[in-house]
Amino acid sequence: MMTKPAKKFNANPVATADQHADPLTHVLTVDVEDYFQVEAFAETVKRESWDRYPSRVDANTRRVLDLFDEYGAKGTFFFVGWVADKLPELVREVHARGHELACHSYWHRTIYSLSPEEFREDTRRAKQTIESAAGVAVTGYRAPSWSITKDCMWALEILAEEGFTYDSSIYPIHHDLYGVPGAQRFPYTFAWANGMKLREYPPATLRFMRTNLPVAGGGYLRIFPAAYNEMAFRIFEKDYAQRVVVYLHPWEIDPDQPRIAAKLKSRFRHYTQLKNMSNKIGRLLQRHKFERFCDVLAGEEAAAVLNGRAAEQPLTLLPSMQEVNA
Ligand SMILES: [Zn+2]
Repeated sequence: MMTKPAKKFNANPVATADQHADPLTHVLTVDVEDYFQVEAFAETVKRESWDRYPSRVDANTRRVLDLFDEYGAKGTFFFVGWVADKLPELVREVHARGHELACHSYWHRTIYSLSPEEFREDTRRAKQTIESAAGVAVTGYRAPSWSITKDCMWALEILAEEGFTYDSSIYPIHHDLYGVPGAQRFPYTFAWANGMKLREYPPATLRFMRTNLPVAGGGYLRIFPAAYNEMAFRIFEKDYAQRVVVYLHPWEIDPDQPRIAAKLKSRFRHYTQLKNMSNKIGRLLQRHKFERFCDVLAGEEAAAVLNGRAAEQPLTLLPSMQEVNA
């Protein structure tokens, strides 16, 4: 099995980044969770029993870090708070190697299954855990299983109130577990009457026959052909002038993880093509330039100052929770 990406793309990853024909960079994100914490196995693996499963997230995340280092790539790591609690040293390591720390909830529960109070409590606990492990502020959020849907848009206001400046949780696709099919496909800003704002960065989709198709993340990156994902990068760079938001999980590069008995569909989604994922990611890192969400946000802020605030993207106004409840 190949352990290095194929030579035909480019032998020198640093040169690839510098010589990239298009100045556009993309966003590299990792949801740091263990193989037994995914929603697909939630019925089989109870949260109270997480401690009893052999943990592999430490070693797998370090492999992701090594892979990124090989190509000089920096990314945003959304930590599950429970993992950060068990492995503060790993949180510090990710930060020390130049990546951004962000939040992927504490218990990895779907947001639509929680009350606003439960969501606030979970989010606060996760944010504090990650922040105290590394001593840096955490301002980015990603919901477990993309579970900010039409039923729980209230979560966005809570995120803004809890000090988050951006979110990357709203997947504009049809899916049995998540998604807001009509949501915008490119970054936009939620705003409230009291002046609070939250920037939203959707994961990448392609438009085909009036439908949004997921691409370049998780199972879609792992299972779909490399050509499909590469086409997305081309279209995003040339036609959209937008960044591809790539996401992956440490367990996706671990073909030797213990197998969990679950429904066929869940097993297919979780275990297909684990062996090839490292190579696929390596090739992406070789061909494209990536940055962290915090860099994107800082770039947007600088551009807005330069062009005057009027040039800012139009806002999506959300009613506040009091107005909804009135
Ligand atoms: Zn997750």
